[in-house]
Amino acid sequence: MPYSLYIHLPYCLVKCPYCDFNAYAAKSWPEEQYMDALAAELRHYISQPPWAEQSIATIYFGGGTPSLFAPRSFARFLTLVSNLASIAEDAEITLEADPATVTPEKLSGYRAVGINRLSVGVQSFQPQLLKTLGRIHTPEDAHDTLTWARAAGFANLSMDVIFAVPGQTPAMLADDLTLAHGHALEHLSTYSLTYEEHTPFFAMKKKGTLRPVEEDDEVAMYLLIQERCVAAGYRHYEISSFARPGFSARHNANYWNGTSYLGLGAGAHSFSAASAWGTRWSNERLPRRYMEKALTHGTATTTVETLTREQAMSEFVFLNLRQLHGLTPAAFTARFGVDFDEQFPHVTDLLTEGLLTSTSGRLTLSPQGLLLADTIFASFV
Ligand code: SF4
Repeated sequence: MPYSLYIHLPYCLVKCPYCDFNAYAAKSWPEEQYMDALAAELRHYISQPPWAEQSIATIYFGGGTPSLFAPRSFARFLTLVSNLASIAEDAEITLEADPATVTPEKLSGYRAVGINRLSVGVQSFQPQLLKTLGRIHTPEDAHDTLTWARAAGFANLSMDVIFAVPGQTPAMLADDLTLAHGHALEHLSTYSLTYEEHTPFFAMKKKGTLRPVEEDDEVAMYLLIQERCVAAGYRHYEISSFARPGFSARHNANYWNGTSYLGLGAGAHSFSAASAWGTRWSNERLPRRYMEKALTHGTATTTVETLTREQAMSEFVFLNLRQLHGLTPAAFTARFGVDFDEQFPHVTDLLTEGLLTSTSGRLTLSPQGLLLADTIFASFV
């Protein structure tokens, strides 16, 4: 089975106060050494099962801020990958870009080395919301990045939008969507702001210095996104994701569909579907320790987890349900040898309450269910 490759680049110019990703503020970063560590890790894994002799369907450079790294670093890495493994001819190769860190030349450089999809961390076009979020780019930087990316030859552009930001009104969100649609993007990822433990935003919310958007307003904003994106010709294909036909994020879809993925870099996670119910592992999170380990041993794994059948069943359900095409109970039975309704009898209640819908043998989240997805998923664990 073709697999996916994820590469984590953990450096950012500043750490945004809402962010709980494995990202570190840095004025400079050991780009060469970090790429050496990635190369060492790649060499270690690539000849082992389940990666050996399989082709790579998608590659994703995430972070952190991958666009801090120069095109030549990606050229070097992608050349190594293609020397050691086979990259599918139509592989989707994505790079996350922060508008504060790019120039037209840099974007042309990324395209020239084979990156064919850009995911731009715009978040909002409203100056006051960017300030609240602690972002260091301006709305003009965001517009420029999208325009330069097109000029550089990117035919597959995605943009992140954050909603339910303190101080945001539905009118501001509507304006953001209009501006985003003005760039005729292929894909939009929309996330409601969450207050993750150990972030400054979490502490500010607790102290009462940051007032979250009211729940009703958050729901109204999510509904507004759905309405505007669908009206603009996008297909709502996953809870947070909208795509023009043919432009769903293939890398993410592979995660949701249980495909194996190899994660390289500080804090990266991997999953192998080769064992009975799957195995996942994760890397050392601190970049310095990650590099030391990867350069010395070729691997920087810290935790390994073998999934149980029950865990695999739960994951199968919510990874499928988060996609709007949902799941077929027959596929569940084929994989696990047990009747879906028998394993999860509460599905009848979810259908009666109108949170799930059953049509032509497919079970999907209803519009109401989409708003309560986390609660519904938790009921399958
Ligand atoms: S730029 Fe992205 S990864 Fe970096 S701190 Fe901000 S939200 Fe986190």
